[in-house]
Amino acid sequence: MSTWSHDRPPYLGGSIGHVKRITIAIDGYSSCGKSTLAKQLAHHLHYTYIDSGAMYRAVALYAMENGLITDDALDRPNLLRVLPNIHIAFKHDDATQRSATMLDGRNVEHRIREMDVSNNVTLVSPVPEVRAKLVQLQQEMGEGGGVVMDGRDIGTVVFPNAEVKFFMTASTEVRAQRRYLELKGRGAEVTLQEVMANLERRDLDDTTREADPLIEAPDAFVIDNSHLTSAEQFDLALGHVVKAIGVVTEA
Ligand code: C5P
Repeated sequence: MSTWSHDRPPYLGGSIGHVKRITIAIDGYSSCGKSTLAKQLAHHLHYTYIDSGAMYRAVALYAMENGLITDDALDRPNLLRVLPNIHIAFKHDDATQRSATMLDGRNVEHRIREMDVSNNVTLVSPVPEVRAKLVQLQQEMGEGGGVVMDGRDIGTVVFPNAEVKFFMTASTEVRAQRRYLELKGRGAEVTLQEVMANLERRDLDDTTREADPLIEAPDAFVIDNSHLTSAEQFDLALGHVVKAIGVVTEA
């Protein structure tokens, strides 16, 4: 006999039914729609969405603002010295009704999306001490499940036991065009060539670094969304999630 309420799909749980809230890890190349899918899933499932890339961007912004990045080079010893004092958190922004990235108490949600931060973030993301700090924070934020987190090492390092893992990809042209339109929509002065160069550079840096490189988890569902609409992609992903929750609830 079903114990679910009538107006909610069983995998969301009902007023009587109880379902385990799982962890969903989404990894993949830069700008291939990870955050779009993660937000859709989190919204639908009433889960928390966590943008791990925002945390690396916040560290890069800190380094830029504090003279720790000059001429494309990172002052690593001094970053390591101040690292324990860099405070990164997410906070609900009443104005936008969304979560905002906070760096030392300041809302940097928009600033960290700008091109100069994108161009500097792979100077800080390969540093093992930076990764250790942020991975620990991410694990704490994801404790207890009910989380969708996107990034580069979520299914491999942060949550290797996540119940559902996605690895997303799309052609470089499609990704660059999408990101270009997004940046232009926010009023950024940027060219398609700059966006393309940044994506290619970050993909290379992220896949070839020694610490926690971007690799496909063997148990990840691969989604190439070059030719998928976001609704098609969401349906495909939700199908996998529902199956996983079904398995979890039967246990
Ligand atoms: O996801 P987003 O493009 O905002 O990430 C910015 C950068 O942060 C990536 O290019 C990568 O260098 C770094 N990153 C990472 N590990 C994560 C998330 C992001 O190294 N889990």
